[in-house]
Amino acid sequence: MADPIIDLRSDTVTRPTPAMLEAMFNAPVGDDVYEEDPTVRALEETAAARFGLEAGLFCPSGTMTNQIAIKAHTEPLSEVICEQTAHVYLWEVGGIAFHSGASVALLPGDRGLLTAAQVEAAIRPANNVHYPDTRLVCLENTHNRGGGSCYSIETIAEIADVARRHNLKLHLDGARIFNALVATGQQAADYGRYFDSISVCLSKGLGTPVGSVLLGSKEFIRKCRRIRKVMGGGMRQAGYLAAAGLYALEHNVERLADDHRRARQLASALADQPYVDFVLPAETNLVIFRLKDEMPADSFLRHLEQQGIRASSFGPQMIRFVTHLDVDDAMVQRIEDALVALQPVA
Ligand SMILES: *Cc1c(COP(=O)(O)O)cnc(C)c1O
Repeated sequence: MADPIIDLRSDTVTRPTPAMLEAMFNAPVGDDVYEEDPTVRALEETAAARFGLEAGLFCPSGTMTNQIAIKAHTEPLSEVICEQTAHVYLWEVGGIAFHSGASVALLPGDRGLLTAAQVEAAIRPANNVHYPDTRLVCLENTHNRGGGSCYSIETIAEIADVARRHNLKLHLDGARIFNALVATGQQAADYGRYFDSISVCLSKGLGTPVGSVLLGSKEFIRKCRRIRKVMGGGMRQAGYLAAAGLYALEHNVERLADDHRRARQLASALADQPYVDFVLPAETNLVIFRLKDEMPADSFLRHLEQQGIRASSFGPQMIRFVTHLDVDDAMVQRIEDALVALQPVA
């Protein structure tokens, strides 16, 4: 039998396991627009409780949970502070302008991570007719473009303090928040104390086919439920999908440590190759690296493709490898062998 394809393009490429599919098949369901789907409710309550927040809202995607939260926290003529490569700004189709009519203040982070001083300096002076009103700060943890980098809880606490003092809301794009929790040993409940809202993706490292959940106060989530409806995101017997999320929260969180170990192993193998310029520190499951100019990114990707390995280009000469549920130790060995077999065309 041919070796299976190794897909390192993203942790979204995973397929549900037989056990997850069985949980989905067996889910009790109802009409969730009537708020009568017991499995959706169980997922929303379980996720909210895990982070010490009051309520949750199940949505089809992380783009939708982020954009709903931003809309709920802002109004036209207001402004959102975020890092310049934040997913909410860079990869959500300009949704902040489209849905919320809000402006964005972009800050340069250190591997995507901001400091409290940077955030504070970006807040607009109040009562000045020229400026939008700063309303919201969005953080991303882990940071995708930053190579899966993690905030320290101290920095989060400092940024939360700036937000409180200036009457701003604080939203977390936690697409990979469980990777951050597992890698750092931080407590989920601390996040509920610091953030007004949290978006959690279930279809990345947690391995479900679909879905994200938005967490916040009861009042906030009530407002978000209406915004989800106007975006066309009200789903009916969504419990079949929510069941995959419940299953993942129970079974697929601790195992993220294996993805992180494999990412470190790949980062170390990459650092040994003569054609690799540098590798960003692999804190979680993302490995971002730069190829030297003598190894064009498209030849590198073509070589891997010939070995049945897929990866994505992430800017000029930059490549991203992502480890996930469907990448095992034997595959990591195959990747290492393919890396060693490749030498620069002199
Ligand atoms: C994947 C991702 C999202 C959400 O993406 P969807 O594909 O819309 O679910 C949000 N933020 C970050 C950082 C992501 O990596």
